[in-house]
Amino acid sequence: MAGSIPLDELRKDTKLTKLVSALMSKGVSRIDPEISCEGFSYRIVEDSLALTPEQAKDLLDQYVDLRAFTKYVKDQLLRCPNCNSYFIQGRFRCPFCNSINLEKSYLIEHYACGTLRRKEDFERDGKLVCPICGGELKTEGVDYRYAGAWFTCRDCKKQFNMPSVRFVCRRCNMELSIDKIELTILNSYAAEDVVVKMVSKETIVVAPLVNFLRSLGLTVSSPGTLVGKSGVHHIFDLIIEIRSEGTSAPLAVDVSKSLEGASEFDVIAMFAKVVDAGVKIPVLVAMPKMSDMGKKLAASYGINVIEGTSLDELFEKFRSLLKDKVKL
Ligand SMILES: [Zn+2]
Ligand SMILES: [Zn+2]
Ligand SMILES: [Zn+2]
Repeated sequence: MAGSIPLDELRKDTKLTKLVSALMSKGVSRIDPEISCEGFSYRIVEDSLALTPEQAKDLLDQYVDLRAFTKYVKDQLLRCPNCNSYFIQGRFRCPFCNSINLEKSYLIEHYACGTLRRKEDFERDGKLVCPICGGELKTEGVDYRYAGAWFTCRDCKKQFNMPSVRFVCRRCNMELSIDKIELTILNSYAAEDVVVKMVSKETIVVAPLVNFLRSLGLTVSSPGTLVGKSGVHHIFDLIIEIRSEGTSAPLAVDVSKSLEGASEFDVIAMFAKVVDAGVKIPVLVAMPKMSDMGKKLAASYGINVIEGTSLDELFEKFRSLLKDKVKL
């Protein structure tokens, strides 16, 4: 399933990167529609990419097709086919004369005598009293019940329990029947974990880290490849060639950025590559932190762990690691 997400394609999609970065900066991974009389809004998408609500919705649907997002049905809007407005209200009409001049009431059934009348017929001095048997109605569900709505047409005087239901577009004033009105299903969208990880690694940590290291005068490849003794090509998030006294040794960095932080599994995954590729100085960057088990394992594998909740913290720790390991 996860393997079929076209990550290589998505990695180049700057809109997706921008959007997911915006989500992460707000600490959310799900986009819900905001609904008002004017319609719907996917605010964070519109704001971060300068799109209209419809464009935002279309883009999110494209990302669902690319499997970068998953969608969940969230709500439904009625839309005017005449002017495309979502400001739609209901309208009740008399099914006999089409009048809108209706009065709505409720039917009450008195259990003791079986009388079924409008609520108004039972009202007497702030109490409910049966107009037929004179008994007082005290407890709903025990001696009486509400038996549904009841409409009276003030024009033709007919009574009925079901008016004809219409809709009115409040923008263009067109009245619409059910068969004319358009339906819009609104989804919530959740970014796939693997996409969030990819973007966070690329934009939040790797890119700034590469810039920082280059500013120190280092030669950095990102992503970087080392060919292992086995012949396998190992990819690291970034590789620095450390040259000293005529020889060069690779310093390889992997960045783990699951939202919860790194664990022993990140250490194990890196260790296999480090051994085969003969990495002199392996560094695993964990943001915001590395699990205790991961730290122990990294220590026994000789993998340097740099933890940080902010980029500045990561940079500072990287600087002292470089001082320590390569006398920079
Ligand atoms: Zn309209
Ligand atoms: Zn009664
Ligand atoms: Zn009528």
